[in-house]
Amino acid sequence: MMFNPQKYAIPDRRMQPFIDPDEIRACLQNARPDARAVRDTIARSLSRERLSMQETALLLNAEDPELIEEIKEGARQLKREIYGNRIVLFAPLYIGNKCINDCVYCGFRASNREAVRKTLSDEEIVQEIASLEDQGQKRLILVYGEHPDYDAHYIAHTVKLAYGVKKGRGEIRRVNINAAPLDIEGFRVVKTAGIGTYQIFQETYDPQAYSLYHRGHKADYAYRLTALDRAQEAGIDDVGIGALFGLYDWKFEVLGLLRHTNHLEACYKVGPHTISFPRIKDASARQVDGRYFVSDSDFVRLVSILRLAVPYTGLILTAREPAALRDELIQFGVSQIDGGTKIEIGAYAEAQNRHKDLRRGQFLINDDRPLNDIIDELISMDMIPSFCTSCYRMGRTGEHFMEFSVPGFIKRYCTPNAILTLAEYLLDYAPEHTSRKGWELIEREMARMDEGPVKKKLEQKLELLKSGQRDCYF
Ligand code: SF4
Ligand code: SF4
Repeated sequence: MMFNPQKYAIPDRRMQPFIDPDEIRACLQNARPDARAVRDTIARSLSRERLSMQETALLLNAEDPELIEEIKEGARQLKREIYGNRIVLFAPLYIGNKCINDCVYCGFRASNREAVRKTLSDEEIVQEIASLEDQGQKRLILVYGEHPDYDAHYIAHTVKLAYGVKKGRGEIRRVNINAAPLDIEGFRVVKTAGIGTYQIFQETYDPQAYSLYHRGHKADYAYRLTALDRAQEAGIDDVGIGALFGLYDWKFEVLGLLRHTNHLEACYKVGPHTISFPRIKDASARQVDGRYFVSDSDFVRLVSILRLAVPYTGLILTAREPAALRDELIQFGVSQIDGGTKIEIGAYAEAQNRHKDLRRGQFLINDDRPLNDIIDELISMDMIPSFCTSCYRMGRTGEHFMEFSVPGFIKRYCTPNAILTLAEYLLDYAPEHTSRKGWELIEREMARMDEGPVKKKLEQKLELLKSGQRDCYF
């Protein structure tokens, strides 16, 4: 009989909506979390196996306080054993807040006449980036509203502009993007600018809830859901997904994120680089009734469950969360946080020239701690703040997967690079008290390292940094 490839071909599911809300609800309804099943599931994750949606639903439905503590402890153990004590730092930079959409929860929505619309000029972008470099930032995420002014060519232009700013010893080594969905051609254009991760959040994975909150272009649930498929088709394999917690049932959203991860892995052989989980808390400023707001304790649960479910995906926690909770969540598996964040357009440069606008600058600084405070605090917690961008620049893609699965990867690359980028920060930007604590941490880390070629090379690279060379990495 003749071989008929059509008959055996796997159906092409690329760029097709892939979320079935009934499947997710059935998963949650059918998951009966007896203690043994929950413990087995935690053990599977700790033995580096990826969890299925059914297994994740078991963890989500566990309400017994003792089991919840075991889930959190499992996430803490996984983070400690696999990822060690590094935390990657970045800063968001809002380029423009013009928007044609009308998402009810957002201050930039088109119907909000009180919003002051602004797009940074090229000169202002350069000033903002120079200010960020003066803080010691090396990794940015550029954020844009959805507007014809912010098309793919404009995004590519701003990315190139960001890479080109070199102030003193400063430079931006990785520029990620958070912007509206593009078509395939648009994604090709932004890829040529050398972007890092392209991040698009689905906000809520439930189509019905989605339709309640979104007006304008963004109301097209399927177009947004398939955006990162188009990015993959255009050759962007480094993508970030996310949900805005507080719009719908948090357990559903966790499974939505997992389903999205499964889809990207199945179709493109690479899952999302990062998952974000911003949380709406303030009902007064936003037209959301608060029914689905997530409490602090549930938020810790959901981060722990995500850590166990997708152990090799980066988890990003935004500076919206209070410092104490952020410190706690770092222990449960968050791998990246923003530091020194300012979300008002043009605010980084303004804060530096505080005499020009004292009240605004002070308010922003009181609300959002400066980068050095965060670095100082991380060092006090025995965490290594890292600005590492090496895999991306060495062409090592799928880095989170390598971190997780390649034996010795963290010892060979991540820890030495974290130490080198911290040393650079201490030499160039840290005040004396942070510098002293930071070098003590580096000494402790070096003492913990195995003797051998990696340690030797690291010592040499540290000497190079001290003698004035920059951007040393493995
Ligand atoms: Fe706000 Fe983004 Fe919606 Fe525009 S598309 S209203 S910026 S959330
Ligand atoms: Fe990330 Fe690679 Fe740096 Fe490790 S070495 S922190 S995986 S960029």
